[in-house]
Amino acid sequence: MSQPETHISTRTEAAAEQRLGGVAIAPGIAIGPAFLFSREQAKVVRQHVPPEAVSAEVQRFQRALDRSEYNLDKITTVAQDKLGADSASIFEAQKLILRDATLVDGVTARIRQEQCNAEYAVHVVLGESARRLEASSNEYLRARTQDLYDIRDRIVMHLRRGTLLSSVDPSAVVIAENLSAADIVLFSRRGILGYATDFGGSTSHVSIIARSLGVPAIAGMHTITDAVTPGETIILDGFNGQVILNPTADTLALYRVRQERHAQLLLEQDQLAPLPAETLDGHRISLRANLDLMEELALLDKNGAEGIGLCRTEILMLMLGSVLVSEEQQLRLYSDILAAAGNQPVTFRILDLGGDKVLPMAHREHNPFLGWRGIRVMLDKPDVLKLQLRAILRAASGQPVRVLLPMVTTLAEVAAFQAILQEVRAELAAESIPAATEVQVGIMVEVPAVALLADQFAEIVDFFSIGTNDLTQYALAVDRGNDLVSKLYQELHPAVLRLIEQTVAAGHRKGLTVSVCGELATNPRAIPILLGLGVDELSASPTYLPEIKRIIRAVDFAEAQRMAAQALQAHDAGAVVTMLDGWLDQHCCDMRHVIEQSFSRDALRV
Ligand code: PEP
Ligand code: MG
Repeated sequence: MSQPETHISTRTEAAAEQRLGGVAIAPGIAIGPAFLFSREQAKVVRQHVPPEAVSAEVQRFQRALDRSEYNLDKITTVAQDKLGADSASIFEAQKLILRDATLVDGVTARIRQEQCNAEYAVHVVLGESARRLEASSNEYLRARTQDLYDIRDRIVMHLRRGTLLSSVDPSAVVIAENLSAADIVLFSRRGILGYATDFGGSTSHVSIIARSLGVPAIAGMHTITDAVTPGETIILDGFNGQVILNPTADTLALYRVRQERHAQLLLEQDQLAPLPAETLDGHRISLRANLDLMEELALLDKNGAEGIGLCRTEILMLMLGSVLVSEEQQLRLYSDILAAAGNQPVTFRILDLGGDKVLPMAHREHNPFLGWRGIRVMLDKPDVLKLQLRAILRAASGQPVRVLLPMVTTLAEVAAFQAILQEVRAELAAESIPAATEVQVGIMVEVPAVALLADQFAEIVDFFSIGTNDLTQYALAVDRGNDLVSKLYQELHPAVLRLIEQTVAAGHRKGLTVSVCGELATNPRAIPILLGLGVDELSASPTYLPEIKRIIRAVDFAEAQRMAAQALQAHDAGAVVTMLDGWLDQHCCDMRHVIEQSFSRDALRV
């Protein structure tokens, strides 16, 4: 893809080295040419289509129309159900516009006459129509402008799916305002070196996927897209959340050495896999995997995962292109996961839709994280829930399985879920379909109300899994994906730690195991605290398990308990972080310390 003119920089060779900071998302160091990716640009680039390929281009446009119509059908059904006929009529109207002959013929004619790509033709034809409406004196027509833009974007989105990949230089560091989860998966499969974005926070789902993929990444950089010149060599330091522009020869040399050391450490990590996750004084916990992508199954054994502590089924399904996946398809997916886990426990989380994981409908909420999300959606849509439960129980026939409920807020939600689970079990039995009989039901503790009433929830569930990503955002009233408030998103805030402590204590009083499956479990400085608070299991993307284990094995449990007690009394997150950084500096057991301390500038002179 050609680079937009607006990004041409006037910086000269002699410009000074410049460091820009953001939120470190995924560790690692990338050194390479900057590739400025803009979705807007990708939409409107005009490309010549050779005469022999014009018919295929028209067919591509037709397929994108079909897929858009299929989407709108689904959206209309859900909207009718949930929002009522008025809202649904908007999408009905959009379907009519989609098949409007003037539009379809206009785009087709343009592709043929101008021998141009379908994206460009759609953009021009729908853009012209929208502008005509915008200028109309009729208020009703003016109000339809947004519908046209929505349709244009929907068709282009479907057209883009195939072309996005080829537009990105695989040996580059991608710089973008924002990226979607699908963008990141596509880019990483293409082999990009790393990415940095203006927007985003450390635990947004897009960031979590980047971490799963192990691509060095930084978010929340605010102005990186303005600062960078396409093609210039930059350094992306995913450990410290820094991008270095115009690096000096010395800086480049230093980072190349660190990069090699990192690669070497990753190779050495294999030796940790068979060792227990045990502290110096023999306190043992379980280390399980979070599963967001099927690719991660290959890492379970390699990285020493003791089963799966959190399977984000909604992300697995979104990667298949939809969340409305059939029972048979889900059955295959879950069977593959159970097979890869062998005899180890597997925890399937019920679809956690909503929040920043978009529902299959254009239902716009003002506060999606406080809205129709997780178990709330599933209890409103029992058919979707039942389908998923049938697939899980069938896949786990003959073996134990754990089911985890997201975004629980009330005891009544758990009771309602249990009733549906019983119905599903009875139906499967009546149909003589083999299904799991040993089903443990656990809840995500991610809403502060649940942590506060943990003793009551402990009476009715089998295990707790603490979702620190959401628990932090709800306890501190800080959106986990908003870079403007990323400094206030403090997972080690004493208020969050007290909620964890209460949950662990209430769970243990009833003999429940308590796991932490949020990103906090991958934060090296948090490990001693989580151990000290008495957490029984940590669950994290398999990429991170060796490093977590290395830290666990460097901790003295009694010392961890002392630090946890001190952290609970702290006045703010800063005090906790200072204490823990002191511990890490002293023990030097995390990847960043090992790399930076063993290869300082002095080491380069040797
Ligand atoms: C969490 O909230 O910590 C969690 C693990 O769930 P998710 O990140 O999918 O919201
Ligand atoms: Mg959550």
